[in-house]
Amino acid sequence: MSKDYYELLGVARSASPEEMKKAYRKLAVKYHPDKNPGNKEAEEKFKEISHAYEALSDPAKRRQYDQFGESAFQYGAGSGFHDPSDIFREVFGGAVGDIFEGIFGFGGQSSRRGPRRGRDLEYKLKVDFLEAVKGVSKEIKIRKYAVCSNCKGSGAMPGTSRTTCGNCGGSGQVRQSSGFFSISRTCTACQGQGEIIKDPCVECGGTGRKEVSKKITATVPAGVDTGIRLRLSGEGEAGPNGGGAGDLYLLIVVKEHKFFSRREYDLLCRVPVSFAQLVLGDEISVPGIDDDVPLVISPGTQSGYVFRLKGKGITRLDGRGKGDQLVRVDVEIPKNLNARQRNMLKQFEETFDKKPIVMAKGLVDKMKEIFK
Ligand SMILES: [Zn+2]
Ligand SMILES: [Zn+2]
Repeated sequence: MSKDYYELLGVARSASPEEMKKAYRKLAVKYHPDKNPGNKEAEEKFKEISHAYEALSDPAKRRQYDQFGESAFQYGAGSGFHDPSDIFREVFGGAVGDIFEGIFGFGGQSSRRGPRRGRDLEYKLKVDFLEAVKGVSKEIKIRKYAVCSNCKGSGAMPGTSRTTCGNCGGSGQVRQSSGFFSISRTCTACQGQGEIIKDPCVECGGTGRKEVSKKITATVPAGVDTGIRLRLSGEGEAGPNGGGAGDLYLLIVVKEHKFFSRREYDLLCRVPVSFAQLVLGDEISVPGIDDDVPLVISPGTQSGYVFRLKGKGITRLDGRGKGDQLVRVDVEIPKNLNARQRNMLKQFEETFDKKPIVMAKGLVDKMKEIFK
């Protein structure tokens, strides 16, 4: 039932990561479901080699496998493996359609026909700190291939339509026999499409899509942070030959703020206060996300103390309320005192009994060691 991962990939147990990747690439191309439509056996094989490669390409998982075999991965719900096509995309990069086009080129036996899904697009969206915290609506402009408005994506002039290719009868493949062999080739009349456009649309040249620049209003939810990707379904590129649209991903980049920063969903800030405010206590107000927030400093608060204002932080993206606002108070030391202020401060200082600082014996030895 279960097969050895190394055997599946056809590599030695000592194979290097590069050797395994090479082996996987070769097998994945051979058994990919797109290359073997309707072939259950190939699909199963594709799944097996993907799992094998996923396990062996991760050093930690490989160690586990070497030690415990396949049982190392039979924990919890599901098998713990990714979708095989995700592994495939990760190794090859890009969309499956583009990959095959790149590998086999035109005339290869696997040339794909018909519509393909359009490319996904990524757009880096810069937002201000408070926009990210509060949420914002932004109008962005992207250039992309969209469905041609003239032919509605058919590629044929309005009033005309695509016709079945007479050369291949619509299959996109032509069989040629020579002696014992019978080989299939991509039909050159229709490039494997199976259809021919007699009257190509003048706007898009028959491709069914056109490069346009489009304005999109992006709604950014409150709480986003740098690195978060928002998906706008169907806002990517239109696919060639009437294929569906890809998605648009907004990659959020949050600009720094002069006063605020954040840690997860907690809002952080520092407030300068005077010595007297800390000693005597005070009621101050500090800037918050929406309004100023009152803060009571109790007498004898140390410089550097951090107050936690419950629920005054950033909205959590998972809908579980808000974080806290953390306010750190730091004493600000005045620099240019006048004579009167200096005198008063001296008098104040003299009211304390000066006690010599007695260091613990161990500490004295340590200091001596340092300054030796
Ligand atoms: Zn058109
Ligand atoms: Zn044809």
